[in-house]
Amino acid sequence: MAICKYCGEQIEFITTPTRRMIPVEKNPVYFHKVESHSEAYERFYLDNGELVYGRALKPLDFQKTRGWIPHRFRCENWKYCNTKGKGKTKK
Ligand SMILES: [Zn+2]
Repeated sequence: MAICKYCGEQIEFITTPTRRMIPVEKNPVYFHKVESHSEAYERFYLDNGELVYGRALKPLDFQKTRGWIPHRFRCENWKYCNTKGKGKTKK
């Protein structure tokens, strides 16, 4: 369990297949996976770190896939430049 340094919420980390650590909401959710990368859908990380798209479901729905919501979409204080500024180096 980790703490978000921007809002103080408890978060988890998912490791992607490319070994990136992605902060996600602390509890997994169930969702309906779609074979689309449209922005109309929400993004979820699977347990193995794969990023997929889908629609969140109510807890009792069937046909569900377990996944993790990227914390930056829920965090009130997330500094977006931190995730975008990867190529920047300060000297
Ligand atoms: Zn946060």
